[in-house]
Amino acid sequence: MKKVRTRFPPSPTGHLHIGGARTAIFNWLLARHEKGEFVLRFEDTDRVRSRQDFVDSILQSLEWLGIDWDDGPYFQSERYSIYEEYLQKLLDTGHAYYCTCSQETLNAKRKAAMERGEKPKYDGTCRDKGLPKTEGAVVRFRSPLTGITVVNDVIKGMVSFDNRELDDLIIQRSDGSPTYNFAVVVDDITMKINTIIRGDDHLNNTPRQILLYKALGYPVPVFGHVPMVLGSDRKRLSKRHGATSIAAYKEAGYLPQALVNYLVRLGWSHGDQEFFTIEELVEKFSLENIGHSAGIFNPEKLLALNKEHIMASDPQTLAPYLKPFLAQYRIKVTDDAYLCRAISTLQTRSKTLLDMAKGSLFYFVDHITYEEKAARKFLQPDILATLELLLQKLGTLPDFTEESLKNVFTDMMEETGLKLGSIAQPVRVALTGGTVSPGIFEIMEVLGKKRVTSRLKAAIDYIR
Ligand code: GLU
Repeated sequence: MKKVRTRFPPSPTGHLHIGGARTAIFNWLLARHEKGEFVLRFEDTDRVRSRQDFVDSILQSLEWLGIDWDDGPYFQSERYSIYEEYLQKLLDTGHAYYCTCSQETLNAKRKAAMERGEKPKYDGTCRDKGLPKTEGAVVRFRSPLTGITVVNDVIKGMVSFDNRELDDLIIQRSDGSPTYNFAVVVDDITMKINTIIRGDDHLNNTPRQILLYKALGYPVPVFGHVPMVLGSDRKRLSKRHGATSIAAYKEAGYLPQALVNYLVRLGWSHGDQEFFTIEELVEKFSLENIGHSAGIFNPEKLLALNKEHIMASDPQTLAPYLKPFLAQYRIKVTDDAYLCRAISTLQTRSKTLLDMAKGSLFYFVDHITYEEKAARKFLQPDILATLELLLQKLGTLPDFTEESLKNVFTDMMEETGLKLGSIAQPVRVALTGGTVSPGIFEIMEVLGKKRVTSRLKAAIDYIR
């Protein structure tokens, strides 16, 4: 079997969104699983809607997701001479012809057909005229008038199309630009793509593309059409369903691993397993297990999976993802080891990196600002003596570990007769500014003796 070569050909007319990303991931996973190659190509023949900032944004999103390519990125706009060459082949072999039917005539015929209750299609006026190339002429593909074209789809099985339904499609517009179906086929041929996985919104294009492969004399690639991603109302996923761009999930504090895991599971399964690392996906991915029904996008499930990935990751892995979120709060981390220790206390409590950044601010600020309600309730004169006693005990503590800190608190409870909460809550407010944080001993160990003592002193001063 030849090396698998897959591709992802986005049109740079928008950001990379959930559905497109899933298609990219499927093709990438298949290439990685089969030790094949993955090609990236921008379909930018629509000069009006294609934009460089969308190209950049799609590239950034792919890189962030961890999808790397072995070849490309290609740009269709730079390949017009190649399309021209293949167009000439079709003209030379009689598989294509010039058509000079005016838009008005075509529109009128289309309207009349619809009024008769027929499916509008090109009536073949120029098909056998043998017209030469003229200003304003388009090139049409001479599609067979009889027979059927079968798409042997690895996901959907055999899908047959009656050739009578496939009219002579335009392959080159009057301005010389190639149309989608033609450019895609020429690209996939010349880029040696042998496996095409894409959304099933393209299934109707596939018989036309197969006919073009045959006319050009090239083998038809393997096709697989994946059911669409739908919103909870079973309508095509759109802005109405919330954020749909990959960039928006990045900004909201999702881990790329979680998003990839979620998107793959949205159309593929491996038993009941929900949580996958990227390595596992590469190892287990196969076309056979792509599902036959639409995937329903569920933001809550994605969030839950993100939490799981945050929990399962090493702090070292999370650190570079967290830093940009801390930077939004003007925190520049200088001590990576300290950051990792802080992260390890927050992993079980954070659904997103944004949560984690907010929850970790107290580790990094020079001065704690107390939440008003917390200070009013817990930083009162009656706690002064306790805080002073704690400060004194910590001063003589040889090692500053969770274990030894726990012992200090046990001693304190015995000596003062206070419950753990009555000591821990004021200390928590002193150290973090609020009443919610990871475990008190955990945060004390991470903060370390210097920070803890200076924050306790600051709280004592504040109360006085
Ligand atoms: N540019 C097309 C799209 O974004 C690619 C379709 C294909 O995979 O052939 O939908």
